[in-house]
Amino acid sequence: MIPYGRQDIRQADVDAVVEALTSDFLTQGPRVPAFEKVLATRADAAHAVAVNSATSALHIACMALGLGPGDLLWTTPVTFVASANCGIYCGADVDFVDIDPQTYNMSPQALEAKLIAAQAAGRLPKVLVPVHLAGQPCDMPAIHALARRYGVRVIEDASHAIGATLGAGPDKRPVGDCRYSDITVFSFHPVKIVTTAEGGAATTNDADLDRAMRLAASHGVTRDPDLMTHAPDGGWYYQQVALGYNYRMTELQAALGISQMDRLEDYVAARAARAAAYDVALEGLPLRRPHQAPGRSSAWHLYLVQLDLDRPGADQARIFDALRAEGIGVNLHYIPVHLQPFYRARGHEPGDFPVAEAYYARALSIPLFATMTDADQDRVCAALRKVLA
Ligand SMILES: *Cc1c(COP(=O)(O)O)cnc(C)c1O
Repeated sequence: MIPYGRQDIRQADVDAVVEALTSDFLTQGPRVPAFEKVLATRADAAHAVAVNSATSALHIACMALGLGPGDLLWTTPVTFVASANCGIYCGADVDFVDIDPQTYNMSPQALEAKLIAAQAAGRLPKVLVPVHLAGQPCDMPAIHALARRYGVRVIEDASHAIGATLGAGPDKRPVGDCRYSDITVFSFHPVKIVTTAEGGAATTNDADLDRAMRLAASHGVTRDPDLMTHAPDGGWYYQQVALGYNYRMTELQAALGISQMDRLEDYVAARAARAAAYDVALEGLPLRRPHQAPGRSSAWHLYLVQLDLDRPGADQARIFDALRAEGIGVNLHYIPVHLQPFYRARGHEPGDFPVAEAYYARALSIPLFATMTDADQDRVCAALRKVLA
């Protein structure tokens, strides 16, 4: 089976992890801050906080922004459930903004309409979580302008998008620089662009948010006298000044992350080359290829197609199963989150986000990863030609 995504582990990664494993620190040593420095530099952000998953990073980002009971978080329905669950963790309510039919990212037009209605109803969201689906950045200038106008904080879920850029020419900036947001979150799960096995990070330019996220990720405990209510009792002293969790990344993970980040550019370039090859090879098949908005360059986490199901006998589930039977590890990103039973029980229904639901009804993700070979890609294309014939 050719998987839809897979990690690339080289000898340099193995050596880095073994070195960490046999060092003095398995956790809370020098490698996590070193990895944070690599991430902050690469994203051109002032701070990066490395944690044990993007899910944890989303949670501490919401905590740092003060999201709580009675508040509202909005995200896109076409995402992994974690982009929404972080709001529930904080006791907030979650709602969704429909997607753009071209990019499948959160639609700024739908966002504006929903903000106008929310203001009239006196229930504006506190936090907005746009997701850079498949690695293509959202229209962040438009989303940021609306968020500013309505006083909404923004967390970019860039789980798919490390290495992506926004803007053109001298204005070209890496995703993660938080130019249009308060915080940006990355995932290092093995199917993503670079991996730490499990892992995630949050970048920000705000020192207070950085401090709050660090506290939230480590029990709310500090050894910094400046954050304490009184002078330390002695050299042993620490204080718990907030409620936090244990979301720390290990030294092994950070070592792997540092080593993987050396190849970020290569990975994104390899994925972009495979995507360009699909664009050519799939021309003429009964499907829509991904649309790239101008002035945004994708990290190409996923290659998402929309099947043409208007032909007689064309059926999404049958096509999916037939491709799997051909040894092609197709997948589907994503089942709209508002249709999950957990969110249905919170008042969401089919029909709430029609563009997202129409997307889902035709969606398919085909294999895309940096180490894919020409032979792998030829096999995927041949299977698609056969199954869609
Ligand atoms: C993978 C993913 C997450 C969660 O990442 P973890 O590191 O597995 O917790 C969150 N949001 C999106 C969009 C993702 O794809």
